[in-house]
This record gives sequence, structure tokens and C-alpha cells, in this order.
Amino acid sequence: MKKKINITTLGCSKNLVDSEILATHLKKFNYEILFDAPVNSAKIAIINTCGFINDAKKESIDTIMDFVAAKQNNEIEKVIVIGCLSGRYKKELKKEIKEVDGFFGTNDLQLILKTLNAKYYENLLGERIISTPSHYAYLKISEGCNRACSFCAIPMIRGKHISEPIEKIVQQAEYLTQYGVKELMMISQDTSFYGKDLYNKYSLRELTEELIKIEKLEWLRLHYLYPSEILEPVLDLMAQSPKICNYIDIPFQHISDKILKSMKRGHSEKSIRNLVEMFRKKVPDAAIRTTLIVGYPGETEKDFQKLVNFVQETKFERLGVFTYSEEEGTSAALLKDNVPKKEKQKRMEEIMLIQSNISLEKNLQKTGKTFKVIVDRQEQDFFVGRTQYDSPEVDNEVLIKKDKNIKIGNFYNVKITNAEEYDLYGHLV
Ligand code: SF4
Repeated sequence: MKKKINITTLGCSKNLVDSEILATHLKKFNYEILFDAPVNSAKIAIINTCGFINDAKKESIDTIMDFVAAKQNNEIEKVIVIGCLSGRYKKELKKEIKEVDGFFGTNDLQLILKTLNAKYYENLLGERIISTPSHYAYLKISEGCNRACSFCAIPMIRGKHISEPIEKIVQQAEYLTQYGVKELMMISQDTSFYGKDLYNKYSLRELTEELIKIEKLEWLRLHYLYPSEILEPVLDLMAQSPKICNYIDIPFQHISDKILKSMKRGHSEKSIRNLVEMFRKKVPDAAIRTTLIVGYPGETEKDFQKLVNFVQETKFERLGVFTYSEEEGTSAALLKDNVPKKEKQKRMEEIMLIQSNISLEKNLQKTGKTFKVIVDRQEQDFFVGRTQYDSPEVDNEVLIKKDKNIKIGNFYNVKITNAEEYDLYGHLV
């Protein structure tokens, strides 16, 4: 009887890919893999933690304690903790939570396998089991980050930027599309920087050109772009190729020059506005997704108003707003976190209210039009899918009237008949 391992993944899609790669080696070594299953579903539990911001750390600790409790009740035998929180606070966690059988970092794949007496397979030839629905998957193109944004702990946790060779990424994409994946989300900490470390030149366009040659790949989506003019060649390719989703995920974080300087982002209000203008000109229908931080140390009412005006003027298709969270060891942690918690919350809510109106306005403009939609799942009375302007889990969804011809994982043309802030309604045509 195969021994079961339950892998629970917290945090971002990069962590998800790390869990899937670990699972691929373990499955090859004859373990049965469960993803995010209830606590006592398997004798061995692996928790892939997130250590990005305080809320994420708390969620990781709570999850570890759930599994430790199950071990104390003899429901499970082994608890292994991996990922960012574990990598960052290994010593402290080891002292605090003695019931855990092992703490590992983000670069300890072989050590983890050894602890489980499992083999590390030198060359998987792109093989990877996925935990997402079988028609889409995440494609991690690099590890780490060379930038020094003042509020961010990722370079401390994940280390320097290391690009995967183009051949290896294409090999994995070919493998995944052979097994039914039609949509790939290209992810990293800093997608714009791809190849600079490995080929000594920015190579995101070259990589994208190779990936869209894969016949079975229908949609390629670019995530985590860093604001920089080097993106122009990629935008040109996006404008030409129907396979690259007209979707630009690019965190701007703020718009006030004073705050951008303190954040060490390396760009200005002017360069950000020029980039948005370039995106709108080169790919007019593209959905621009960005994230912003409010309540950063020293953010005055005037700085915040600049951000409000920027959001109102730019009318982003997709927007996420975070309240500043002081992170130990970052350069921003040396600054006085002087915006009260309540005020941070108020600023976030104010921008999200503006954004919900913008999102409704843009969604209403889609009624009467027909869009190519990929179907992700079935609900009670309808199917749920996404257009090329929507990434899984984070963006809008299309609720499609039930139809016996619909199969999950396929593409259909859907006519939009109604819209809300973050959902569209429609039927097959
Ligand atoms: S680009 Fe900045 S925010 Fe993004 S991972 Fe790197 S340091 Fe962090």
C-alpha cells in the first residue's frame, strides 16, 4: 500500500510550483500525494509556508500548529515544514515547536527528499505534477530577486535572482501542454529581469517567443513584471501574438516621487505614467493589473491624494491594495511607521471603493460583446470561466448559463449579457 503524503501550500504561486516539484519527485518514488487535504488525511504532512508579511506568517504558524496537534493525537506521524517562513526563522521555530520533524528553506529540495528517504531524480525532463485544475498551470521562470525595495523581505528569503535556462522552461511547458494544460501563468519575483543573470541580457522576449511556438499552448500570461522601459519588445510581441494574453501584471506600489524614492523602486511618477501610456498605445485592450501600498512610513495626506488621483485617472482594469506592514530586516523597518493602523485601513478602503466603481464601469462596457472564455469549474446553476483579461484566483470571473455542451477546461465564445463589479454574466454563442 502506497504511503500518503499531504502537502499544504500557503502563500504565492511560486510556493505552489515548489510544492508541485517536490511532489513530482515523491510520486516518482512511489508515494501517494495529496494537496491541501484535511489535517489527518495522511501519516506524513508537509507544510510549505509563507513568510512575506505578518498576516501570512501568522497563517503559517496556525497551520503548523494544526498539524502538530494532529501529531500529538497520534493521527499523523511526521510533520515537515518548508518554504519562506521556515527558511527565514529556522532556528527560532526549531526552539519553539519541537514536535516538528524538520524545518527546511526554499532551496532544500534534496535535503527534504533525503529526510523522507526518497530519491532525487536528476533529470525529470520537464515532468511535473500539478495541483491546479488540469487545463492551467504556473510556470516559474526564475528564483529570487536582485532588487532592494525597502519594504520587501523576499531577497532576504529567496536570495539573488537565478533564471532557469530557456530550454528547461520550454521543456516543462511542453510536458505540461502534452498533459492537457492550455494556459500557462509565467511567474517569478521579477519577470522583467529574466535572463540578465544567465545570458547577460534581458531575455523575456526570447523566452516568450519560444513558449508561444508550443502548439498545444493556447494562452500565455505574464505575471510580476517590474516597471521598466525594457518591457517594450515584450509588449510588441504581446500586440502581435494571439497566444499571449493581453494582460499586464505590474506592481507600481505608489506614484508619489517622495514615496517611490523612499521605497527604493528606482523609478518615478513620470516613468510610470510613460509606461502606462506605452501599454495603452501598444495593446489598447490590455487589462493592466497593479498593486499599491498605502500607509507607507511618511505617507502624508498629500501623497495619498496623489495615489487617489492616479487610480482615478489611470482606470486600472485590475487593482490590489495592501496596507504597509513593517518587515523585520528590511530598510523600511528603520523608518518610523507613523501612519496609524486605522488610517491605513481607511486609505485602502477609499481606493478600493473608487476601484469597484471603475471595475463596474469597465465591465458594463463589455455587455453585448462576445469573448473567448476558458471554463474553470461548474457551480450549482452555472459554469465559471475567465477571459484573457483575468488570471485565476485573483481577477474577475464569467458566470456562464448552464449548457450541456460545456466541458471544464475548454474554450468557448461567450456573449456577455450582464455585469457586476467583479463578475460578468453570459451565455454560449
Ligand atoms: S521586485 Fe521589489 S517587491 Fe518585488 S520581490 Fe524584488 S525586492 Fe520584493
